[in-house]
Amino acid sequence: MRRKVLSSRKKILIYYTVLISLIFILISSIFYVIAYNTMEKKLVENAYDKTNIIKDNLKDILKNSSLNYLRGNNEAFYSLLDVNYRKGISKKDTMDILIHRNKLNSSEQVYIVDRNGNSLNNRGLTDIDIDFNKLWDRAEKENQYYTDDSENAYYISYFTPWDLIVITSINKETIKSYVKEDIRDNILKNSYEYEYSFLIDDEGNVIVHPFMSRNNILDISDKEGKYYVREIIEKKSGKIKYTSDIKKVKKYDERLCSFEYIEGFNWIIATTVSEGYIVKSRLNDYLIYIIFIFIIFYIMTIMFIFYIFNITRKPVIRLRDEMKDYLLKEHKVKLKEDIYEDDEVKSLTYYFDELLIKVKEYSNGLISKNNELKGVILNRDKIIEESIGELQDNHEKSIILREMSNLIQKAVSEEEVHRIIHMYVKKIILNPEGGLYIKKEEEYECVISWGERDYIGDLHKYQCWAMRTGKIYYNDGTIPLCNHVDKKKKNHICIPLYDGGRTFGLLTFDLDKMDNSFNIIISSMAETIGICLSNFRFRQQLKGMMVTDPLTKIYNRRYLEEEIKLSTIDYSQGIIIMDIDNFKNINDTYGHLIGDDVLLKLVHITKSIISYKDFFIRYGGEEFLLVQKGISFQEALSKAEEIRDEVQEKLRIEELGISCTLSIGLAYNFNKEIDINTLINEADKKLYEAKNSGKNKVKYITFKE
Ligand code: GH3
Ligand code: MG
Ligand code: MG
Repeated sequence: MRRKVLSSRKKILIYYTVLISLIFILISSIFYVIAYNTMEKKLVENAYDKTNIIKDNLKDILKNSSLNYLRGNNEAFYSLLDVNYRKGISKKDTMDILIHRNKLNSSEQVYIVDRNGNSLNNRGLTDIDIDFNKLWDRAEKENQYYTDDSENAYYISYFTPWDLIVITSINKETIKSYVKEDIRDNILKNSYEYEYSFLIDDEGNVIVHPFMSRNNILDISDKEGKYYVREIIEKKSGKIKYTSDIKKVKKYDERLCSFEYIEGFNWIIATTVSEGYIVKSRLNDYLIYIIFIFIIFYIMTIMFIFYIFNITRKPVIRLRDEMKDYLLKEHKVKLKEDIYEDDEVKSLTYYFDELLIKVKEYSNGLISKNNELKGVILNRDKIIEESIGELQDNHEKSIILREMSNLIQKAVSEEEVHRIIHMYVKKIILNPEGGLYIKKEEEYECVISWGERDYIGDLHKYQCWAMRTGKIYYNDGTIPLCNHVDKKKKNHICIPLYDGGRTFGLLTFDLDKMDNSFNIIISSMAETIGICLSNFRFRQQLKGMMVTDPLTKIYNRRYLEEEIKLSTIDYSQGIIIMDIDNFKNINDTYGHLIGDDVLLKLVHITKSIISYKDFFIRYGGEEFLLVQKGISFQEALSKAEEIRDEVQEKLRIEELGISCTLSIGLAYNFNKEIDINTLINEADKKLYEAKNSGKNKVKYITFKE
């Protein structure tokens, strides 16, 4: 079942409302208590002030009323005395007239008193209890004098001509009854239902009360049975609190009463305020204002909250939807039924949590991937290390190959080249098994072989796939083996050697292993060998062309010089120089072609006598040089003689009747210190000697130690 969850917004609003209400109640309560106490205090002060004002007013009224009244009467009697005196009427007659004519009411009295203390009043002198001496003093001094010190108030004036004082007096009670109406007005004018003043005497009789007409209110008690009027009378002045029993103001029945005693009159003036009515009703008014302000404040903040929600809601919803979309589409996350659909904040949190899980998974994946990559890198490092090793190895091997090629350049014979190759291949390939074949007519002859297997023997072009295809043939066992390869071996490599586009040889190896770098080494080695061999051959060819005499096909003088430079003949023992006698004549007589013929014949005869080890050189024109090696002086000399004999016998052209002889100079060297050029010079000198001593001779010289 789908659980209904309150949205964060609603929750905030509810929390807000409750909180604000609580704060409001608290503040209101505090305010109420403070305001109540303040107002009560103020109320009591007001009541006290009012009571005192009325008290002062009453005092004034009473005083003024009695003063006015007494002064009026006093002045009337005084003027009567004055008129009679002026008329010349005697003091005694005037007194009589006054006593009999003027009828004053009982409470008002007039006394006329002389210096002797004889007094006349309208009722006789008996009921007067005044200290006359005191009166006389003041009356004489001030002429007119008022006092209300006692129960009665007096107004006194002094009539000088007759040395009499006129005293008018009135009982205070009488004044009270006179001024009652004034007082009533004064009190009732400012009386309201909830705030009024009243006047009672000290026996509880009502003098003025706005609501009570009863004469005595001593028996009045409040709602709780408290005789508050009695309390007022007992205390005379002060404050009391009581509960009204008046039904119509029941709602606000708390009363405060402030009262004061008016001395001399025995009256008590009191002011009662309905605390409940004034304070509570006013406070309620204030409370209404406060509630009103509170409601406005509340509405404004609600609006503000809504405004804030509206601002934030849209981006939050957008973020949430994007997050949800991302989770659904990118991560295919199975999201729970969206219980927070209405609460964007909660649903955002939910998606965020889901996203965090995904991010964690992703980062874990990254970490393991990273570790994997580290492994791969380590592996690569190893491979690179190996490759570096290989490169180094290759570098060393290329140095070896260069060394080999340098040596081959210096080689003097193809056999020597083969020996070099044989040794250097061993330096490059560990325990090689294979052979080098060089073309000889139609077959390929094995000139070098490595390993146990016997490679010696010829090979036909068609026995090898490399020769047939003209390309390097790598065989890893998956393609046909060449015919010349050991069947036990799985792998082999055959590399054709080229010389100017023409195959002249084959390098072949049986292998245990085969890999790219090895193949590269082998093929570059084969290439180097091919180039070296072909260069060597080319050099030999070139050299042959340069050092061979084109007519006789034997070496020329340049060859001798080369050989001397290379020091290949420094061990020579016999040098023969020979010259045809009178050859010029043959040329001159029979022409150059016949001369050439003679030269060819001479070469042929000599070659048939000398050893293959000897250097036979056309030294120039019809002069020849023979370098004899490993021969004794006797042998050298007999060889020279043999040549001379054979030429004498065989160098002829019968049909032309030509016959030739030779003169020979021989230098024989026992002493290895003498160099070849010296030896040649010495031989030449001996030839000259032979010519000069009749030609067709052998002359010799030997060098001993
Ligand atoms: P001598 O007995 O003193 O040696 O006298 P000679 O005539 O043999 O010597 P000379 O040096 O006066 O003459 C050599 C001649 O050989 C001169 C030259 O024409 C000739 N000659 C040199 N080279 C050749 C060649 O290649 N062919 C021919 N046909 N004659 C050549
Ligand atoms: Mg000559
Ligand atoms: Mg000659």
